[in-house]
Amino acid sequence: MSSAFNEETVKTVHHWTDRLFSFTCTRDPGFRYLNGQFTMIGLLVDGRPLLRAYSMASANYEEDLRFFSIKVQNGPLTSRLQHLKVGDKILVGRKPTGTLVQDSLLPGKRLYLLSTGTGLAPFLSVVRDPDAYERFEKVILVHGTRTVGELAYGDLLAGGLAQDEYIGDEVAQKLIYYPTVTREPFRNQGRLTDLFTSGKLFSDISMPVPSIEEDRFMLCGSPAMLKDTVQILEERGFKEGSGNDPGHYVIEKAFVER
Ligand SMILES: Cc1cc2nc3c(=O)[nH]c(=O)nc-3n(C[C@H](O)[C@H](O)[C@H](O)COP(=O)(O)OP(=O)(O)OC[C@H]3O[C@@H](n4cnc5c(N)ncnc54)[C@H](O)[C@@H]3O)c2cc1C
Repeated sequence: MSSAFNEETVKTVHHWTDRLFSFTCTRDPGFRYLNGQFTMIGLLVDGRPLLRAYSMASANYEEDLRFFSIKVQNGPLTSRLQHLKVGDKILVGRKPTGTLVQDSLLPGKRLYLLSTGTGLAPFLSVVRDPDAYERFEKVILVHGTRTVGELAYGDLLAGGLAQDEYIGDEVAQKLIYYPTVTREPFRNQGRLTDLFTSGKLFSDISMPVPSIEEDRFMLCGSPAMLKDTVQILEERGFKEGSGNDPGHYVIEKAFVER
């Protein structure tokens, strides 16, 4: 096997819906990453690695790695990956990377984490990051899905994490979780972009309409969600940041259309 990968062992598997599941696996002690980053993971198929980009959904100080995955029925990787069982082996690339990192953002008061679908994954790591709570007064996680069942980790984000031994106090004081659903009745309904432009998102959470002076954004969702949200931000004067030129927002695709 290529030395670009560690071979890890699956420890737990949880199916949320027929389209979504999560799993945890062992973590090589030498595998280090920044919260929000992704790496290549996959399986050996006919003796060759079949790999796809995956965000780490575990914080970088956790012992195990956690991933949150789609199941694409005819997808080369996920048609197989969805059958993972405890004890199975999985390949994890040794070189994490990605744009959803805090050093690419200018200082601000509020950090918005805007996600749809599996775009939640990198933010499951960011909301456990003590650095995020040190840098920002509020961390606001918005997760948009089609159905209520797809609001994975909802219980954790709505309360469980506030009980966490390590990060619980910060979470209780600073994390706001705003789930929204488009195709079923739910307490928050509608597309993230509409909730943004109408201002409903901000009035619902009692926060001011975002300004370039005070608000920062990380976006992770479908290519269409990213395109629309970036347009909304750019029209309001927000600029994309990078490692050597920090800005008001950063983006990462939750997947690419093939
Ligand atoms: C930077 C980055 C990070 C990613 N992180 C994750 C992650 O944390 N979890 C995850 O499940 N996927 C993630 N993906 C997508 C992932 O790399 C694969 O595309 C996915 O696992 C499906 O693989 P596949 O081989 O089964 O199908 P593919 O051939 O890769 O995809 C087939 C089609 O399925 C659709 N699709 C693929 N992935 C998704 C998705 N996540 N949500 C909705 N539709 C999708 C697209 O229309 C795509 O054209 C990420 C992609 C990128 C670029």
